[in-house]
Amino acid sequence: MNQNFPPLVIGIDLGTTNSSVAVAQDGKLTVIPVNGQLTMPSVVGIDPTGKLVVGQAAKNQAISAPENTVLSIKRLMGTDATAELVGKSYRPEEISALILGELKRAAEAHLGRSVTQAVITVPAFFNERQRLATQDAGSLAGLEVLRIINEPTAAALAYGAGQSDTSENETLLVYDLGGGTFDVSVVRVENGIVEVRASHGDIHLGGDDFDEALTNLGEERLREKHADSLPAAAHRRLKSAMEIAKIHLSDEPFATVREEYLTPASHLETEISRYDYEQLIDPWLVKTLDCVQRTIADAGITAHQLDKIMLVGGATRTPAVQELLMRTLDMEPRHEINPDLVVAMGAAIQGATLAGQPTPAILVDISAHTYSVLAVVGHDFMGRILGCCPVVRRGTPLPVTKADLFTTQVDFQEKVEVQVYQGESDDPSENLSIGEFMVTGLSDVPAGNEIIVQFHIDLNGLLTATATEKRTGLAKSVTIDTAGQHRINLDAARTNLAALFEEQDAAFSEDDEEAEDEDDEFTSEYDGESVDLSAPENEGPANSSALLASAKSLRNRAGKLLDQGVPETDAAAIHTSLAAIPVAIDARDWNQLRTILDTLSDLLFYLED
Ligand code: ADP
Ligand code: MG
Repeated sequence: MNQNFPPLVIGIDLGTTNSSVAVAQDGKLTVIPVNGQLTMPSVVGIDPTGKLVVGQAAKNQAISAPENTVLSIKRLMGTDATAELVGKSYRPEEISALILGELKRAAEAHLGRSVTQAVITVPAFFNERQRLATQDAGSLAGLEVLRIINEPTAAALAYGAGQSDTSENETLLVYDLGGGTFDVSVVRVENGIVEVRASHGDIHLGGDDFDEALTNLGEERLREKHADSLPAAAHRRLKSAMEIAKIHLSDEPFATVREEYLTPASHLETEISRYDYEQLIDPWLVKTLDCVQRTIADAGITAHQLDKIMLVGGATRTPAVQELLMRTLDMEPRHEINPDLVVAMGAAIQGATLAGQPTPAILVDISAHTYSVLAVVGHDFMGRILGCCPVVRRGTPLPVTKADLFTTQVDFQEKVEVQVYQGESDDPSENLSIGEFMVTGLSDVPAGNEIIVQFHIDLNGLLTATATEKRTGLAKSVTIDTAGQHRINLDAARTNLAALFEEQDAAFSEDDEEAEDEDDEFTSEYDGESVDLSAPENEGPANSSALLASAKSLRNRAGKLLDQGVPETDAAAIHTSLAAIPVAIDARDWNQLRTILDTLSDLLFYLED
């Protein structure tokens, strides 16, 4: 062991369903992969060869060998209960220690050093005994647990609460819906101190219930064709397929489940719609809202006094959860940090603070706006009311792919126009229209023909909208540069431009005394040919004037080099680029122009050297 390593304290989210480990070093936060995944199932088992397996491998065998597999041990922490594994019994602390040991090993392998100290999170409702049990599990795994912190506190820390330089006081609601448990807390941040004011929950409510409900639905549908019900093993297999379908339904309006030979005679192939799924889980969601109301009341505040809502736990990826909270509390919940990882990240931040390391900030790329589709949302005496129906909401981490279902309004409608809007309002007149396209040749069917509209937004803010007629698969798509619409990007372009001119000034001020170079102001002209910059809709004028300015300056530099004389092949390359510039400008093809200028700039840079 190397004594020269600086102190390092890892952060661990020891979850009922999944666990994860993160570390903050030199102001940088990393979630450490375990067997290639950022979360590890909190499952321990003995495989058929007698080998101990932890994590995904253990989860995989839970279907075929439930008696050799331990799940959800966290529910037993702080009790005298034991878990059985191949005829031997283990205390919850011991099973938890196996999970923690696996995370510790992954951290050591990733960091290339030994790790001996950790911060571990627990639910706010954990009592003293449960906390001590968690601490003991840590020791058993060879970890000194420097601190046990509450999961909602960790989530708040990850979202930047309580950072020493902010004196902002805030009241946060942390809504955590995991695999097997739900809890909600009101967290108060005051003078940099983060404190849980009230917390409620249900230790038997989570994504697992949703999987079970879907499995029962699948069995019901199966019984319509095959009389008998499923044996336990087939039920477990179906449930695991249903979990995948459920996750799919968070991003798509439909999921297909195909499981062959559930019994020697029964095959299931069924489609589940997001709508049906949402109906199915509604009673549980309503139950979570009761908890939310009670927690707010217990904290001695009203919903209006909440400053932020944070989503934690994998199951909060369900759109219905986000929508329900938004409707009830009239505030958009924050979900830009991965809800499965936010607790481990917060634990790592606490760990860094204890290790005397700088507090890292979490940076995520998120969608700065809501993107919606114009659709009929109701009727009044004037006729149809059109509104913007969000497909991707503001604050969603990028890249993202999300789809929603729309239906035709008229019998035998043979085309639909998809109009894409950017903005937070339901009212299209308050949003920005950023693109539209037509899907023609729809089937000759009555109103209600299902059209799936999918948005994909990449890291550069390019939105690809695709509309597909569900019954035929007929599809049409367009790509829209949303970055061109962002005010923030115009600002960035201006800054860019200022930097370009500074750079230009610094490089050329002495030897450019000729009148030719009078570009002390941004000019929208390229050498006498006036260019109308207002015409192209999706390229900000600032962007194109920057390009034109740089075209002009590169042209001057190229002229000088050609005068001085350069090798023939280079001269030819320069002439090719110079000739291409006016063509691109004429076509207002700014992307093409940018490419040409980049090439030319590289060439000049190399020749001027
Ligand atoms: P825990 O805190 O209990 O360990 P997690 O926060 O890891 O649990 O949440 C696990 C649950 O989240 C599982 O039921 C899983 O199926 C569900 N889940 C994960 N991703 C999604 C998703 N994209 N949509 C809906 N549910 C999801
Ligand atoms: Mg959790």
